[in-house]
Amino acid sequence: MEHQEKLIQIPPIEEIHKFNELMDSSYELAKKLLPFLAKKRIPLIPENYRLFYDYFLAVNPELNRQINDALQHENLFTHNVSQRLYKAFYDVDQAKANVLAEMGEQIGNIGHSLEINLGQSLDSAGRFKQALFDSAAQMEDGTLAVDDMRDMVDSLLVETKSAMDSQTALAELIETSNRVIASLTAELKDQTRLANVDQLTQLFNRRYLTQSFQELTANLKVDDHLGISLFDIDHFKNVNDTYGHAVGDKVLMICAKIIKSLSGGEHMACRYGGEEFVLLSPGYDSNKTAALAEAIRQKINDTQITIRGINIPLTLSAGVSSYIHGESEEDFVSKADLALYKAKNSGRNRVVVYQPEMSKEQE
Ligand code: GH3
Ligand code: MG
Ligand code: MG
Repeated sequence: MEHQEKLIQIPPIEEIHKFNELMDSSYELAKKLLPFLAKKRIPLIPENYRLFYDYFLAVNPELNRQINDALQHENLFTHNVSQRLYKAFYDVDQAKANVLAEMGEQIGNIGHSLEINLGQSLDSAGRFKQALFDSAAQMEDGTLAVDDMRDMVDSLLVETKSAMDSQTALAELIETSNRVIASLTAELKDQTRLANVDQLTQLFNRRYLTQSFQELTANLKVDDHLGISLFDIDHFKNVNDTYGHAVGDKVLMICAKIIKSLSGGEHMACRYGGEEFVLLSPGYDSNKTAALAEAIRQKINDTQITIRGINIPLTLSAGVSSYIHGESEEDFVSKADLALYKAKNSGRNRVVVYQPEMSKEQE
């Protein structure tokens, strides 16, 4: 019985049909779309692919109207034009990562489908050629005038060759589109990363924290641990007020770097807000998380930060907690926030671990 569980799961037939339909329609659309974009000298960047994909499907009359307008009145479909249209029609910040990932998948499907089609047609051309050679050999054995047969076979071979030449041209075309697809896919990856990362500190952003929390906790078993540290720089407003915003920015970058370097790859460091950072620590209970947070606090306390010859004393406080199976992200973070509040109120530059009494005090 056991071996049955290991059988590969075949998707339901309707899903395969739907998938095949999507393959066909997206491939057909790409065949119209790519030459159209090339003819109009519209760069094949992900935003334009998405805009014109919807344009061809006429999903939004207003989009079509504005694109037609742009095509008529703009000399070139510049980056500014596509960004303006893209921003106007898609909620870029929220949906960018999803849309781009979906596009990446579709483009990958197109490339795969091209490859399969090409492989099949080259195979069939090869078989055609072989068949011709075979029949030529057979005819030489028969009673027909050999010269006539040779002429016939020669002309067939010429046709085959021209068919094969066109296949070679097709192969080149496909190789080019595969290269375009590869660079588009790389671009999509970059864009997706940009959508997940805070520009100043290069840590993950809050949007990505929410996504990761959902993914991480969906697979956690009751006994699995997930630690959280919420860091907040002490009196950061003073840094800005005393040394200026630009120095403040540098300090944020240094803090982020220290948090990142002291936590390994299995942790997820994120810029939670202005001068607040969250570190998620899979597999870490409260004690282990507190020890790591303490090491980070100590390191920042001990690091001499000198910017433009000025020494900037810097400390941070942290609230630490751990995940209780089934709790919401809001509850999970707010426990760390209550502990952080305690750390601030009891003198700053310290790590406090959440205790359930803190929630009661809050009520
Ligand atoms: P506390 O110890 O209680 O946390 O005091 P604080 O001064 O750190 O806290 P407060 O919330 O009063 O000030 C946070 C400051 O962080 C205010 C805001 O101007 C600054 N800030 C937020 N984001 C940025 C940023 O991206 N760059 C810079 N330079 N400052 C920022
Ligand atoms: Mg703060
Ligand atoms: Mg602060």
